[in-house]
Order: sequence, then structure tokens, then C-alpha cells
Amino acid sequence: MSADKKTLLVTGGSRGIGAAICRQASEAGYRVAVNYVSNQAAADALVDELKAADGDAFAVKGDVGNEADVIAIFEAVDRASGRLDAFVNNAGIVDVKARVDEMSAERLERMMRINVVGSFLCAREAVKRMSTRHGGKGGAIVNISSAAARLGSPGEYVDYAASKGAIDTLTIGLAREVALEGVRVNAVSPGITETEIHASGGQPDRVARMQELLPMKRAGTADEVASAVLYLLSDAASYITGAILNVSGGR
Ligand code: NAP
Repeated sequence: MSADKKTLLVTGGSRGIGAAICRQASEAGYRVAVNYVSNQAAADALVDELKAADGDAFAVKGDVGNEADVIAIFEAVDRASGRLDAFVNNAGIVDVKARVDEMSAERLERMMRINVVGSFLCAREAVKRMSTRHGGKGGAIVNISSAAARLGSPGEYVDYAASKGAIDTLTIGLAREVALEGVRVNAVSPGITETEIHASGGQPDRVARMQELLPMKRAGTADEVASAVLYLLSDAASYITGAILNVSGGR
């Protein structure tokens, strides 16, 4: 254990945007806790990669949509590191393309459980550890929202867009709630970003199909999103809280 290193936990840190955040954070000197839910090989490969580059990282399995798992994830970080300085609420899902008039209650409950309830529960556990009200030393939280919160994602996944609207509101409200407790809370709101999430929603060609419609005629990269996250976590952003930073290439 290196108690001198700042510790960052990233939910869904094993792939896509989360993995880019973990890589940049490791480079910046954080000890990184890489959460994942099922793909242990990807999490282990990332941890090995970070360690090979002289980083300090460990993987933590757990479903953010399950309260017992959320508690266990944070307790695992407590045991491994003894401190939590930064937290990124990154884990999130999309579902297959559907109109609202086709959505089942099961689909909606899963979407809100993972993207909204999961983010709230994780924020709760992070605040309990960081807030001076709870004896903590302060810290920074970044929530990963989406341009979908502004665009609504009609004909594709309005449920997902609404779940990200809730993330924006969580960001604003929690930021004000803990502003005097040493904790800053911000959001990064990516536009279409090249990751495997599109394939997981049954649209592996989504980036290629949409890029002509984007102002920069290209999707963003996970690294471009991660740079904004690392900035908001850093002391350079010490007077920024409750902000929602679009990383969406003008969309
Ligand atoms: P991704 O490539 O699909 O990666 C998802 C990551 O989240 C994986 O590490 C996965 O773990 C983990 N995960 C999924 N469900 C989880 C759960 N219930 N509990 C814990 N971890 C879970 O996704 P991404 O594109 O990087 O997206 C990351 C965030 O950015 C999401 O919040 C997403 O909504 C947001 N975002 C993405 C885009 C985009 O275009 N890519 C745009 C705007 C916003 P396993 O490997 O174990 O499955």
C-alpha cells in the first residue's frame, strides 16, 4: 500500500472512457481502483498495463446497480488504499434502439437502476469518505453525463437520455450540498465517443453512421473525454463545482 499516493476510483474503469481515465490518472500519479462488472480479463489487462508503466492500480469487481456491491466496492478501496481522494461515476449502459412507446418497465427499471440509482449510491459512498462533515479530508467527484441529456435521443433511447438528465441534476444539487465540505462535484458530458458501448446497444456502426452529422465530422476519443475529467479532478479546477463540461465537438 502506498498511503502517500492519492487514490482514484473509476466505476466501469476497465474499458472505453473509464479505461482512458484510469490510464491518464495513473500517468498523473494517482493510485487507481479499476471497477468492472463482468469482463475480468479486460480489467486485469488494464491493471497489468498500468503496473508495467510503473503505475499503482488494482481491479474491483461489482455491479453499481446493486447496493450491496456498491458498498463492497468502496470497502475494497478502503482496505486496499485507506483513502479516497477522487471518484469518477463513469459506469453506464445503453439499451437497444427503441421508441418510448415500445419500452418495457423492465428495460426502464434496469436503465434507471444502473445509470441513476447506481450513480447516486456511489456518490453517497464517496461523500461519506471525502466530506469533512464525515471526518474526511475533501475530494473531487466527476460524473459522466452525456450530450443525450440535452438532445433527448429520439427514436434511439430516450430512457438513456433521461438517465443522463438525472446525472446533470445530481451534479448541480450535490455540488451545492457539499460545497462547504471540501468536495467538488462536476460532470463531463461527452458527445459520440469511440468505444464499445455502441455495439453493446446493437449499433456497432453508430460512430461511422453518425460522424457526417457532427460539427467536426468525427466522433470524440475516450482520451479526449478523459483529459476533461482529469482537469476537473485536479487542483487547477479548485473553484469549479456544479459545472457540466461538454466534450462533444460542438454538438
Ligand atoms: P463501454 O465502452 O461500454 O464500457 C463500459 C464500462 O462500464 C465497462 O468497464 C463495464 O464493465 C462497465 N460497466 C457496465 N455496467 C456496469 C455496472 N452495472 N457496474 C459496474 N460497471 C459496469 O462504455 P463507455 O462508452 O466507455 O461509456 C462510459 C460512460 O460514458 C457511460 O456512463 C456512458 O453513458 C458515457 N457516455 C458514453 C458515450 C459514448 O459515445 N461512448 C457518450 C456519452 C456518454 P465490463 O467490462 O465488466 O462490462
